[in-house]
Amino acid sequence: MKTLTQLTFNNTFAALPADFYRQVAPTPLSDPYLISFSQSAADLLDIDPNEFQHPFTTELFSGVKSLPDMQPLAALYAGHQFGHYVPQLGDGRAILLGEAVNERGEHWELQLKGAGQTPYSRDGDGRAVLRSSIREYLCSEAMAGLGIPTTRALCLVGSDEEVYREQIETGAMVLRMAPSFVRFGSFEVFFYRRQHDQLRILADYVIQHDYPGLADAETPYLALLEKVIERTAKLVAQWQLVGFAHGVLNTDNMSVLGLTLDYGPFGFLDAYDPDFICNHSDYQGRYAFDRQPNMGLWNLSCFAQALLPLLDASGEAAAEKAKSALQGYQGIFVDAFAQGMRAKLGLSEAKEKDQQLSADLLEAMQKNQVDYTLLFRNLGQLKVAFEHPRQDAVMRDLFLDQAAFDRWAIDYRARLRAENRQDTARQTRMNQVNPKYVLRNYLAQQAIAKAERKDFSEVNRLLKALSNPYAEDPENADLAALPPDWAGKIEVSCSS
Ligand code: AMP
Ligand code: MG
Repeated sequence: MKTLTQLTFNNTFAALPADFYRQVAPTPLSDPYLISFSQSAADLLDIDPNEFQHPFTTELFSGVKSLPDMQPLAALYAGHQFGHYVPQLGDGRAILLGEAVNERGEHWELQLKGAGQTPYSRDGDGRAVLRSSIREYLCSEAMAGLGIPTTRALCLVGSDEEVYREQIETGAMVLRMAPSFVRFGSFEVFFYRRQHDQLRILADYVIQHDYPGLADAETPYLALLEKVIERTAKLVAQWQLVGFAHGVLNTDNMSVLGLTLDYGPFGFLDAYDPDFICNHSDYQGRYAFDRQPNMGLWNLSCFAQALLPLLDASGEAAAEKAKSALQGYQGIFVDAFAQGMRAKLGLSEAKEKDQQLSADLLEAMQKNQVDYTLLFRNLGQLKVAFEHPRQDAVMRDLFLDQAAFDRWAIDYRARLRAENRQDTARQTRMNQVNPKYVLRNYLAQQAIAKAERKDFSEVNRLLKALSNPYAEDPENADLAALPPDWAGKIEVSCSS
C-alpha cells in the first residue's frame, strides 16, 4: 500500500514530440471537498484507502496541489463529430497529470476532468458540472463492475464554485484513469494535416505502450488496425448485450484500446427499445441504440483511413488492406453478440436456431415494452419443467400481453431441455452475466438531486451496488426495481 507521494511516475506521453500536446496546469477548484472515491480503482494504483481521509488528496485531485513527478498536459486530437470532421478538438477540459506505474508494472494515466481551460478549450470554460461528473464517475465504475472495458474513475471532488450551463450549477472534477487516453481522433489530426511522421510516431507509441505483442508482427500497423477493430467490435457487442447506449459516438470519443470513453448523455435501456436515443441533442438518432454497431464500424473506417499512409507506400494497396481488415468487423461483432446472448439465456451449446430464439424474445420484449435488465435477470428463475401455472408469473408480469412470454417460453424450454442441465446450475451461471443493478438514468438522477443538496449518501450507495452488479443485496432491492413513471421523461443532453 502506498501513499500518493509514493506513487511512481513514468510519463511516456509527455515524452512524445511537443506537437502532440500542450503543457498546462489545472486551474484549482475553490474550497474543494471529496465526495467519493472508488476502492477498486485505488487498488489498481496500490493506494492506501486511508489516503482519502487527508486534505492533501482532495487538494491533489482538484488541481490545488500537485506531485513533483507529474507533468500536466492537454493532448491534441481531432475527430468526426456527428459525421463531420472537426480539424482540432483536443483536451479542452481534461488534463493529463501523469502516468503512474503500479507494483505489477501496469501503467495508468491519471487525468483530471473539469480541470480548467487549456489551449484546446475553444469557447469552453474548461469545467465540468457536478451532475455530469457524478454520471461519469458512477458509470465508469459501473461498467468496470459489469466487466466491460472502460476508463476508470478514482475519485470525485466537488466545490461550491459556480459554473454556468443552462442554469447556474457547481463545478466538480473526476480523476479518470486509463492505460492510455489515445483516441481515433488522435490519429486523424495528423492524417488530415499530412503529418505522416507524427502519425508513425503515434502508432509506434501505441504499439509499444499498449500492444507490445504487435511489435513483432510482420506488418505491425496493419496488426494494430486489426486489433483495434477486434476490440471495438467486442466492446460494442458488450454494450448491446447490457443495454448501454453511449450517446456521442464521435471518433474523438473512441479509444484505441477499445475502452468505453467519455461518459456524456449515455443511458441504459429501461424498456427494450432498439430505437432508444439517449442523447436529447441527437435529433437524427445517429447514435440510437441499435445503430451503435454500425457506428462502431463507421468510426473504425475513419481510423483506418488515418492509418493509410502507414499501411502501404501505394495508396491503392493501403486502401485494399484497410478494406479487408474492416471486413472482419461484422463477423467479430456477430460472434461476440451471439455468444453473449447465449450466455444471457443460459445456453451452453451453440445451436443453429439460437439466433431466432433470441430475436423472437427481443421482438416480444419490444412490442411489450419489457424492462431489459429485469427480464434477463428474472429469466434465470424459470424452471425447465413447467410445474405450476404461476411459476412464470415474474417474467409474465413484465409483458403487457402476458401470453407473449408463455408462447416464447415453449421454444425456450424445449431448447433448455435439449441441454439437460440443472435449473439451479443454469441460474447461477445466468446471474453471472445478467446484472441485477445497472445505472439507470433515474437512479443517477436521484443521486444527483441529493448531491446537489450536499447529501452524497446515494452516490456512495450506488457506487457500492454497481461495483458488484451481479450480486444480490436485499438492502438495495429498490435499485433493482422497475423504474418509476417519471424515469421516461428525463432528458439528457450534451451539456455537461
Ligand atoms: P465531448 O462532447 O465532451 O466529448 O467534448 C468534445 C470536445 O469539446 C472536447 O474537445 C472537449 O474537451 C471539449 N469540451 C467539452 N466541454 C468543454 C468545456 N466545458 N470547456 C472546454 N472544452 C470543452
Ligand atoms: Mg469527448
